[in-house]
Amino acid sequence: MHRVAMISLHTCPLSQPGRGDAGGMNVYVRELSRELGRRGLAVDVYTRWTDRDVPQVVQFGDNARVIHVPAGRIGSLPKAALWPHLPEFVYHIDRYVAARGLGYGLIHSHYWLSGWAGLLLSRRWHVPHAAMFHTLAELKRRARPEERESPERTRVEREVIACADAIVAASAHERTQMVSLYGAEPQRVDVVPCGVDLDLFRPGSPQQARRQLGLGDEPVALYVGRIEPLKGLDLLIRTLPLLPKSVRSRALLLIVGGEREPATPSHNGHIDERTRLANMARELGVAAQVRFTGAVPQAELLWYYRAADVAVLPSYYESFGLAAIEALACGTPVVASMVGGLLTTVADGQSGFLVPWRCPPAFAEKIGALLTDLPLRQRLAGNARASVAAFGWPSVADRVLSVYRHLAALHIPQACLCRAAAPAIISAR
Ligand code: UDP
Repeated sequence: MHRVAMISLHTCPLSQPGRGDAGGMNVYVRELSRELGRRGLAVDVYTRWTDRDVPQVVQFGDNARVIHVPAGRIGSLPKAALWPHLPEFVYHIDRYVAARGLGYGLIHSHYWLSGWAGLLLSRRWHVPHAAMFHTLAELKRRARPEERESPERTRVEREVIACADAIVAASAHERTQMVSLYGAEPQRVDVVPCGVDLDLFRPGSPQQARRQLGLGDEPVALYVGRIEPLKGLDLLIRTLPLLPKSVRSRALLLIVGGEREPATPSHNGHIDERTRLANMARELGVAAQVRFTGAVPQAELLWYYRAADVAVLPSYYESFGLAAIEALACGTPVVASMVGGLLTTVADGQSGFLVPWRCPPAFAEKIGALLTDLPLRQRLAGNARASVAAFGWPSVADRVLSVYRHLAALHIPQACLCRAAAPAIISAR
């Protein structure tokens, strides 16, 4: 097995993370593909073509390239509108592969939409399929009942979990949930944590970082990531007025990700999450203390991590939470919700704090402690870097490769028939 087809339908690994739907999954697919490519595996990442000005094939590492294929019109489409275009996506991948005589030894799909495509292609090409979900509908719904998902999603997730040759879970928690909520067979779920670029994200002078960002000596709490309700940023904003008196009016909350400016309300009056958060900060009288920077390239993110006194992930759910290990790699303690992958990356009381209650006073207590208690902050910061030493991308790639090797050696096509799979669609075109 020398060639791997990665499927990342809804988002391109080369998109700017932190904006729109691009986030941890993009970083994961990009870094894993590069790392596998360095080891001599040829990795092709198939993704939906969203921009005519971007060439169809883009090399982004040794032996690693992105191949854009049409699915619906070429242009951006909301994730929720992609399901009907899946057969076309699969058809174009198959046609591209056939026209060039390419052959793959394995398919690795990312997210449920790509999982569906992976199932079809693995049957068509008679190769094993490893699936990774990054998020699962049932876990989101349980974490935040207001989450709305398409009716197909849970059904397809179940079918991919039942039929893929291996499932890669980002944390032990995710694996347990796959078994209990989706009936996954435990022996087919491998836990491989996500990674961090330990060369890029390193500790360094906070003062220099603050100068770089035009910050003074104000206490700084930092959030890094996409801006969406599941991230729980409203809770973080509500925390600001509850901080200890000594820092309450001076503390700055940097929100890195999303758009810098609020979007104009849509015709039906719907406001986006960025605007909702800004309005909330205004109503609470803390607008001057909340700064939205917009999305920042990863190479510049380290200045933010280094400048911050504490990084905060108040998420309802995180299947892994790359931002947490990036902050820790830079020597910045993390305060996070006690959910999902964060349970395995943040050592409570050692490299940060895990907060079990989704309420502002609980977060304010821990953030406040780190902003006001220098010895505590220094102790946790001192443990932070070492706590993520095992999460470098080379170790992630080693573990993913061992999943691939196992599959390539043992591949016996799954006998189960999936309702999601409709190979006739491919040959009918
Ligand atoms: N990120 C970035 N620039 C930004 C905001 C986020 O490069 O402005 C990256 C960040 O470094 C991290 C990823 O986006 O690698 C977010 O991943 P995480 O797992 O924290 O969240 P997800 O998007 O998976 O929910």
